[in-house]
Amino acid sequence: MKTSRISGFYRKPVEERKELILDMMELNGGERSAFFPTEPLELEIADHMVENVVGTFPLPLGVGLNFLINDKEYAVPMAIEEASVIASASHIAKIVRDAGGFKASSGERLMIGQIQVVGCPDFEEAKAAVLNEKSELIEICNDAYPSLIQRGGGVRDLDVRILNEHEDSDYSKMLIVHIYADTCDAMGANMINTMAEAAAPRVELLTKGKVYLRILSNYAVKSLARATCIIPPSLLKTGDFDGEAVRDGVIHAYEFAASDPFRAVTHNKGIMNGIDPVVIATGNDWRAVEAGAHAYAARSGQYSSMSVWSKDEAGNLVGELELPMSIGTVGGATRVHPMAQMALKMLDIKSASELAQVIVSVGLAQNLGALKALATDGIQKGHMALHARSVAVAAGATGELIEIIAEKMIETKEIRSGKAKELVEEYTL
Ligand code: NDP
Repeated sequence: MKTSRISGFYRKPVEERKELILDMMELNGGERSAFFPTEPLELEIADHMVENVVGTFPLPLGVGLNFLINDKEYAVPMAIEEASVIASASHIAKIVRDAGGFKASSGERLMIGQIQVVGCPDFEEAKAAVLNEKSELIEICNDAYPSLIQRGGGVRDLDVRILNEHEDSDYSKMLIVHIYADTCDAMGANMINTMAEAAAPRVELLTKGKVYLRILSNYAVKSLARATCIIPPSLLKTGDFDGEAVRDGVIHAYEFAASDPFRAVTHNKGIMNGIDPVVIATGNDWRAVEAGAHAYAARSGQYSSMSVWSKDEAGNLVGELELPMSIGTVGGATRVHPMAQMALKMLDIKSASELAQVIVSVGLAQNLGALKALATDGIQKGHMALHARSVAVAAGATGELIEIIAEKMIETKEIRSGKAKELVEEYTL
């Protein structure tokens, strides 16, 4: 793949942008013509995906540029309705690539399944019984999904927790069996649920209790992905702000989020601004990723910043983001949605681990984009310029008029629908 640093991309017409992406991917004739689906999602496919279908709901799909992650170039597909997110991610990715790019990693990817058992006559005895039969239970789980074993995946471990042992209510006392499975390149929800359901009857026998829930946990703490970047202050200089001032502003902003949940929620929403669009574009379950990410941000007992920003001995700005990433490159909607298939091709991703690493890198870029703006000119300057276009479109502007009206509103500092409607009328008279 050629470089993902394509200057002036945003100024080109859409068709030319598509050509540039195809050039970047170095596709040949046949692959080129089939790359962008002519129909984003046919009604017939949609009708098989969910219930009561009456239509489809398109979102803009943009490309995050300039991403260099572990020395590999990425054009990142991002499906999102919010203006300025893709521009900001691409801007920061350019700075980070000049600093050597993002370094990302992920360890073993294990998804977690939970089996809830209540009413055990003796919870400690029940726990011991389950642990004694660990190998047999793992085998039952694996037998329920033989194709996963053939791919080299399967249940790797199992453990047991007792909850509310000393409480009076029989409703709250319970034993929870956790199964940890390598689901290869699948997110694994259905796989895990199948395995948990298969093991449940044996668990009931062993514990002498009653099994209720058998379900995946979206708190995917054994499927973490990390991204880091190290940026010299010279690359952070912005307008009248020198690089050290920007760096210090970013660290102050981080410390605010680290200590205050009111700020942390918005700080983390900014991170998810980068993460969700990639998760959505690749057909993954963004509710699962959102739920896991926010829970991980509260793992200390207090909801806090998902990212960490600091200064190293050389004075560089150091950013880190580690999050649970329950995503896949196969299965679920990725398998059937033509846009998701295209997004995965655009990323040229080889595995779910690689996708997870790209996603956290984009989240980290997005976070720095917001913090850098907040620590310098404020978020509105860049945001309102892009927002003005949406307001112009909503007021009925089309074609070249969108830009003209957006610029006019910015100039007069009146970015509101009333003004946009006035201008549309004025220009279309
Ligand atoms: P699937 O049920 O689609 O399973 C993935 C399938 O991909 C497997 O059956 C396997 O088919 C196939 N496959 C092909 N290549 C590979 C590979 N390299 N590695 C692994 N599998 C491969 O999807 P998931 O189990 O991943 O479940 C994800 C879906 O579940 C999402 O749509 C999600 O929204 C939904 N869900 C989420 C829940 C939650 O988050 N709590 C709960 C329930 C559902 P085969 O082995 O047959 O060849």
